Amino acid sequence: MNMNMTIPGAVVKDVRASLPRHKTLKYGRRKLTDIRSAAMHHSATKSGSPEAFAGYHVNTNGWPGIAYHFVVQKDGTIYWCNDLEAISYHVGNSNRHALGICLVGDFRTQKPTLAQLDAAHRLIQHLQVQIPSMKQVLGHQEYPGYAWKDCPAFPMIKFRSDYSQFLQKAVDKVKTPIQVPVAISMNGSMLSVSGFLQEGVSMLPVRAVANAAGGKVEWIEQTMDVRVNGKDLNEKVISGSAYAPARELAAVLGIQVEWDDPNKIVKLRGV
Ligand SMILES: [Zn+2]
Repeated sequence: MNMNMTIPGAVVKDVRASLPRHKTLKYGRRKLTDIRSAAMHHSATKSGSPEAFAGYHVNTNGWPGIAYHFVVQKDGTIYWCNDLEAISYHVGNSNRHALGICLVGDFRTQKPTLAQLDAAHRLIQHLQVQIPSMKQVLGHQEYPGYAWKDCPAFPMIKFRSDYSQFLQKAVDKVKTPIQVPVAISMNGSMLSVSGFLQEGVSMLPVRAVANAAGGKVEWIEQTMDVRVNGKDLNEKVISGSAYAPARELAAVLGIQVEWDDPNKIVKLRGV
């Protein structure tokens, strides 16, 4: 199946068609909704490549193909190795419900690189969006029957808490575009509220500015619109406060606006 594997901030190489495969054996298939967890592994080798792991799994173990769905190299490159529907061999009885992600390295003596951890976070996040049933992220050792196995040999509690922080940061970025604060003055005196610059437009707090200019503010419940002196604005609501472009707001209030760029001040003047 062809799934979108374009992951912002990560390099993904699709090597599914080029890796060594068994001549006759094939992995069983599942539905994506059967996937419940991402299983983290280390390669238990100081270095390595998907080709080398696939060769070993096919030629030495006699398996249909490489064990993992993804291999994350030390430089952060993600190799896509198996269809997600393939029930490949990596966590025994749990294979049907698990998706295997292997970080190259022997973490009994080495540590995953920051690039590797960042790529793993991005990969898991991307997969969780596309496969909502994949709720858990577990270490190989955490699957039934594998408590004895020192894999992935990095602490999963820390990995999961770092991953939660990564998700939180991603969410914050979407909610709060980069904003440069701007000060506001009215007839020469500074207001106690500030606005912000967004994509070159200064956005001002509608209520505070309208009050200072003696304008009338209405909130239209049905359309969730803010009106000033009976006119609609292209406002943006942030944490319950409406912000509107300075020029638009000044026009409906019948006041003048001037942008003091060096000092980042929007200067308003009543007529
Ligand atoms: Zn493992």
